[in-house]
Amino acid sequence: MRAVILDQPGSQRIGDRPDPTPKAGEVVVRVHACGICGTDLHILDGEFPPTPYPITPGHEFAGEIVELGADVTGLAVSDRVAVDPSLFCGRCWQCQRQRGNLCENWGAIGDTVDGAFAEYVAVPAGNCYRLPDSVDYNAGALVEPVACAVHAIHRLNMAVGSSLLVVGAGTMGLLLMQLAQSAGAYEVAMVDRDPARLTLAAQLGAAVTATSVEKVVDEHRGRFQYVVEATGVAAAGQAALGAVESGGTFMVFGVAPEDARLQVSPFDVYNREISVVGSMAVLSTFAPAVKAVASGVIDTARMVTHVETLDRFADAIQLTRQRAGLKVQVKPS
Ligand SMILES: [Zn+2]
Ligand SMILES: [Zn+2]
Repeated sequence: MRAVILDQPGSQRIGDRPDPTPKAGEVVVRVHACGICGTDLHILDGEFPPTPYPITPGHEFAGEIVELGADVTGLAVSDRVAVDPSLFCGRCWQCQRQRGNLCENWGAIGDTVDGAFAEYVAVPAGNCYRLPDSVDYNAGALVEPVACAVHAIHRLNMAVGSSLLVVGAGTMGLLLMQLAQSAGAYEVAMVDRDPARLTLAAQLGAAVTATSVEKVVDEHRGRFQYVVEATGVAAAGQAALGAVESGGTFMVFGVAPEDARLQVSPFDVYNREISVVGSMAVLSTFAPAVKAVASGVIDTARMVTHVETLDRFADAIQLTRQRAGLKVQVKPS
């Protein structure tokens, strides 16, 4: 089969690899769409430490089951599925207390084992979630990032009738913003430096949009119950922190460099009862994410802005690095 192969950090090629065969409990999925995300860029650049090379990346994907391994029940050949890339060990303390996304032996399809920038990929049957007929493969490949946003909503413990500010109108910020509106956020605001992305945010339901946190607080006439930092940029996070109202919650959702720092006033956290929470990847959130995509809560068509063939993987990566659109996907077959 054809696949993207990273022999080592910084080198990428399209080459031939043996077709995967399913072990017991696995299925082989013919990949119809696989999204590129920031983690893929880190894997390409050698900045994601758990990655073993050579590897075929790709963890946001959907496709069609073409082969069943032994002992697989409840799935059939030609089932259309989205695949949770999580590979949790199930035995460590974090797994045993249902926090598998913090697994001490964490792994993921496309991050620590071969993934879906390939015609076929073998995956555990239990990681497959059937897609309704109304959800096409491009929308199906968006289920993984939506599942990350569902986990964020769970972490925020969102209350009905609340206010939300999202800083960063990239794919993740926009997905979370759309989901939050059905989860209880009635007053929604978005900050981004790019006016085109703010226009889109407004079309997707943001009542207030601005190019700075100060402006958005001004226009909203007050701070916000939930503030989500979705840029990974420390300066943006610092500004966002100032927009949390008393009793409110600040979430770090964007992936910042490990050495980035924010200044937090302990007095403020104490006196104004500010909660600071993180949200990392997915945690049993694929099933609700499929429903969110199928129900139309997420405007998937506007989130996927580019679809490239596998042969144009390098161009797809370039588009992602240039932030040319929102989600860039690859269609291997
Ligand atoms: Zn990702
Ligand atoms: Zn574990």
